[in-house]
Amino acid sequence: MRILISADMEGATGVTWTGDVVPGTEQWQRFRRLFTGDVNACVEGLVAGGATSVIVNEAHSSQRNLLLEDLHTSARLLTGRHKPLSMMQGIESDVDGVVFLGYHTGAGSPGVLAHTYLENSITGVWLDGVHASEGRLNAALAAEHGVPVLLVTGDDLTCSDAESYAPSARSVAVKECVSRYAAVCLPPTVAFSHITEASAAAMTQAGRVAGAVAPHRIEVEFDATHLAEAAAVVPTVEQVDVRRVGFDAASMTEAMKAFKVVTHVAAGAIEGIYG
Ligand SMILES: [Zn+2]
Repeated sequence: MRILISADMEGATGVTWTGDVVPGTEQWQRFRRLFTGDVNACVEGLVAGGATSVIVNEAHSSQRNLLLEDLHTSARLLTGRHKPLSMMQGIESDVDGVVFLGYHTGAGSPGVLAHTYLENSITGVWLDGVHASEGRLNAALAAEHGVPVLLVTGDDLTCSDAESYAPSARSVAVKECVSRYAAVCLPPTVAFSHITEASAAAMTQAGRVAGAVAPHRIEVEFDATHLAEAAAVVPTVEQVDVRRVGFDAASMTEAMKAFKVVTHVAAGAIEGIYG
């Protein structure tokens, strides 16, 4: 059984604040160790549950956060950015299950460091009319490849979100959300043991099935009008309201590629303190 871990950082053990996840800061140096601990705890459980191969895909920011020198010896690490499928690179490589580790809730929702791709400027994303977190988007991409979501870790609200898009997946709440920048956190050793236990149990759900390619629609709402205008320059993308764009795609893979372009173009149009 080959398993993919898509590893984001905002939902990692102990993380509650911007500085914890911004590469180069003192806090980030501390939390990348805890983040690596979450990943290793997951690998430990997956292997105990029958995984024969585990690939960890870095999914946060520069995608160079995890400490390779401390990585579990049963895993391999896909580190670095500019990957066609971004957070989900590896889902196309015949894996039998995927773990969303360190995930968070979506833009416009409560939750620790909630956002969807851009930290601030996106206020909401909808997939086929349903308000969507990165987890929901990535689960749809996994479904297209016939890959089950085995486990989701993050704060308690991230786990609730996962129940709606991956009802068969297990979840581990490593912290309880108090506000966007505050949470009641488990000690790392306790969080790690919960993750290991859930990962091992989740392997009973592993096993690829036939994928289903279908058309999808994504809409994105920004906090400023000029970001929607900028994004609408992308072919197939139309401005559907003053701060909102939408586009249709023939598959979830194509939808996610277009979404990535939309976020890059909008990010490039952000100006100083007026956004
Ligand atoms: Zn992230």
